[in-house]
Amino acid sequence: MKIPISVPYIGEEEITSVNDVLRSGKLAAGEKVTRFENAFASYTGVNHAVAVSSGTAALCIALKALGVGPRDKVLTTPFSFIATANSILYCGAEPVFADVDQETFNIDPAAIEKALSTNRGVKALIVVHLYGLPCDMDPIMDLVQQHGIFLVEDCAQAHGAVYNGRRVGSLGHAAAFSFYPTKNMTTGEGGMITTNDPDLAARCRMVASHGAPRRYHHETLGFNYRMTDIAAAIGLEQLKRLDEFIATRQRNAYLLSTNLGRLKQLKTPLVPMKMNHVFNQYTVRVPANLRTELCDYLEKNGVGWGIHYPQPIHLQPLYRNRGFHPGDYPVSEKLSQQVLSLPVHPSLTTEDIFRVIKTLTGFTWD
Ligand SMILES: *Cc1c(COP(=O)(O)O)cnc(C)c1O
Repeated sequence: MKIPISVPYIGEEEITSVNDVLRSGKLAAGEKVTRFENAFASYTGVNHAVAVSSGTAALCIALKALGVGPRDKVLTTPFSFIATANSILYCGAEPVFADVDQETFNIDPAAIEKALSTNRGVKALIVVHLYGLPCDMDPIMDLVQQHGIFLVEDCAQAHGAVYNGRRVGSLGHAAAFSFYPTKNMTTGEGGMITTNDPDLAARCRMVASHGAPRRYHHETLGFNYRMTDIAAAIGLEQLKRLDEFIATRQRNAYLLSTNLGRLKQLKTPLVPMKMNHVFNQYTVRVPANLRTELCDYLEKNGVGWGIHYPQPIHLQPLYRNRGFHPGDYPVSEKLSQQVLSLPVHPSLTTEDIFRVIKTLTGFTWD
């Protein structure tokens, strides 16, 4: 039996709740969506949450609602899923990048400072709490304030993560979450925007629903990016279990790190002080020249694995055509050759975890 790299955890509660919605005949955004938004806002520690159709939509809507448009630049990390940077392109704005820290995989405050001093016209910064580890937010929030720009958190991989006593998603002007099945909680497809700003929340709601603050009155060009009550029904049940999912992920990560720590050629993930890592991915670093062989070996031995991500965003064809080159962001480029994600999800048994450890220990490392 292969140990999968990720599986959504769906219980009877989710099934019953979806059944109730289907039998009610009210499938589009309604009471379940409102309840999910309120519960998610309260969990995250913000005043407003707006449920949408995906994490990508959440990012795009947040930027649009902040007024990002053509001639603006938005700064972000090149070491993330493509959706982070694409949300900038959807607004007609120009993405600019700042490299990451090689120990945390997250955007480096020193690189942000440099990018802000050399680029004019940066309107917003999107930080990504990659793999579930919060970014180094104190210096980042200082820089954002100094330069008078907007801060958007991409929390697609970090539901429930805590920075210095505050949940991610409550630290910037707006935040975007994803409920894709590989994330820490799911609604099938889905997303959420969180903010403390009531006007911004209202604008997000408007952009997500045809630019209409009320029915058949269209003020701006919006989208249909709404969530369904079917998805919200799943989300409400998943949210109740989120803390339990996270605790199991953290326990699995702890078992992996304490047992893999003795492998000299493998570097286990770092968890800095002040941070609570929610381990959407458990990602190690291995020598680039061994990675392909190691992946083949894991595959042969029935251990799922993933590479997040094999190419930094600026080297994807879509971005190369916009003038980015190899060597522009060397840390991200190096990490993309070294990273390897191992199974850490809450459906794993302790036996599974020890099979992952035993398999990795049995690899010919030299
Ligand atoms: C998954 C993900 C997204 C996009 O979310 P979708 O719901 O798949 O659209 C954006 N950013 C990051 C970092 C992600 O991991």
